[in-house]
Amino acid sequence: MPTEVTTTGPAPEEIKSLNEECGVFGVWGDPHAAELTHLGLHTLQHRGQEGAGIVGKTPEGLRRHYGFGLVAEVFAQPASLQQLRGDAALGHVRYATAGGRILENIQPLLFRFTDSAIALAHNGNLTNAASLRAQLEANGAIFQSTSDTEVLMHLVRRSPAPTFIGQLKAALNQVHGGFAFAILTESGLYAAVDPNGFRPLVVGQLPSGGYVVCSETAALVAVGATFCFDVEPGELVEITDAGLVRDHFTTQTQLAVCSMEFIYFARPDSEIHGVNVHLAREKMGRRLAQEQPIDADIVVGVPNSSLSAALGYAQESGIPYELGLVKSQYIARTFIQPTQALRERSVRLKLSAVPAVVAGKRIVLIDDSIVRGTTAIQLVQLLKDAGAKEVHLRIASPPLRFPCFYGIDIQTTKELFAANHSVSQMKAILGVDSLGFLSVAGLEASVGLKTTAPNGGLCVAYFTGEYPTPLDDYEPHLSEELSHLAINIGEVSA
Ligand code: SF4
Repeated sequence: MPTEVTTTGPAPEEIKSLNEECGVFGVWGDPHAAELTHLGLHTLQHRGQEGAGIVGKTPEGLRRHYGFGLVAEVFAQPASLQQLRGDAALGHVRYATAGGRILENIQPLLFRFTDSAIALAHNGNLTNAASLRAQLEANGAIFQSTSDTEVLMHLVRRSPAPTFIGQLKAALNQVHGGFAFAILTESGLYAAVDPNGFRPLVVGQLPSGGYVVCSETAALVAVGATFCFDVEPGELVEITDAGLVRDHFTTQTQLAVCSMEFIYFARPDSEIHGVNVHLAREKMGRRLAQEQPIDADIVVGVPNSSLSAALGYAQESGIPYELGLVKSQYIARTFIQPTQALRERSVRLKLSAVPAVVAGKRIVLIDDSIVRGTTAIQLVQLLKDAGAKEVHLRIASPPLRFPCFYGIDIQTTKELFAANHSVSQMKAILGVDSLGFLSVAGLEASVGLKTTAPNGGLCVAYFTGEYPTPLDDYEPHLSEELSHLAINIGEVSA
């Protein structure tokens, strides 16, 4: 009889800036599938720190271990992984957007039926999950979790199609929004990406001949797998002992990769649709230097996600790059503190200025994005306290002015600094000497995906409010949000 083991306990609270919903990693056809998945999840840890889980295809069937916390915390006991050993596995790291923070929402979700068992891992957010769930419940469905992901499994099981692939295709055609799904059964590993390809998903091959499906190419490298292909919008990949089959659940597709993957989320050593993330960020920095030049002594990047852009800004402007800010290697997360004073101290624990570098200097400070503005205020203050003469803030992305409904945790304009202030107001609040953002055109050109799709194949809805899909259940909510908004979308400097 299969068993399930869970690690319970309080989930750590974070000061949220921007959080990806999750990362997925699956293996088919390798005797070390569980161990490889464990390694792969470590590599994808930046995509979600709230919870982690692995389902292993063992000789006794699908077994699961999951819990709140980092991968190292959830799998602290060797036995937790040993019991999942077999020739296939599926893992997940989670940051909750839809559904909230309860143990039942930690993925992979595992469903047991009289004839089979199915594990499901999802990266993204379904825009019509609430209405689909209401319909399903009205027809007698009983849900175990509050996660939007569970809807897919109900749709699969209710499909009259004669094969699992047929049922899966029928279900995938009913869910809308952003999704990269990986699904494990005792017969195969399946991967599917929404018709816009918002969230990345790649397939690689192991030296053993087995296959890997995962969110980022960096995780392929970590387990010694060779990159095969990006799962394309609308694609359904089936991997079984008979081999790999590329199929489509729809051909009504249009590439709109989440631009925040290139700006902030993905690891710099990953490639998305053939574009290296570090090089894209470096180009964003170069373009930012062209669009938002300033006379200064040194360029300083905010560690770590802004370092590539800072390097690009320095190269293009000719202003030397300096290590003006350093990040503690050992404070992984900034926990919510009960008072503002303690919260500010925790930012200072994470990052510190190097006075010998910044004192008396005119600094161009490069950050990848501004979300709520609270961290940027602290950073500027850090540099000024360390003796910086001037701080010119340059942001390697356009102002974030609209909510995201495709898998990022900002779903209201109230949380967004640039949605509620003009650029000159932001400059005054941040206490900087000047402020400049990258343009949307500059972002698209810097990423340079090889596609004829609108917006250079990127989703730029965060910056423009032009969503690539209908927003379904979120439409009334967005209209209400936007009715309060009074901002100039084209404004990028002050
Ligand atoms: S709205 Fe923003 S965060 Fe959401 S998918 Fe589009 S670019 Fe990414």
